[in-house]
Amino acid sequence: MYCPVCKAEYKAGIKICPECQVKLVEEQPPPNDFQYEEFIPVFKTADPSTINFVKSILESSGIRYALMSQGLQAILALGEVKFEVPEEDAAAARELLFPIAANKKGDLIEK
Ligand SMILES: [Zn+2]
Repeated sequence: MYCPVCKAEYKAGIKICPECQVKLVEEQPPPNDFQYEEFIPVFKTADPSTINFVKSILESSGIRYALMSQGLQAILALGEVKFEVPEEDAAAARELLFPIAANKKGDLIEK
């Protein structure tokens, strides 16, 4: 059983979270913040090696990202993709990716 508020797991038989005073649910709830968080596009490129490079930069900086592409491009992993990051990390991500854009490997997406 899981608390839908604090996400704590409890043994079967416990019905109320002692911390939050709410009814427990059977299914593990999805992570708290993910689906409510707004991701905004910060960078686009069509170069596969740049895509991997950008991924590694964002990962090593601890910035979460989503890769956006459209239709067939997504299936074939070809064409231009956009990197989206949480709004709070957008300024830091643009700064990190600025040198790549300066090398003409992609484009920063400004607000
Ligand atoms: Zn709770």
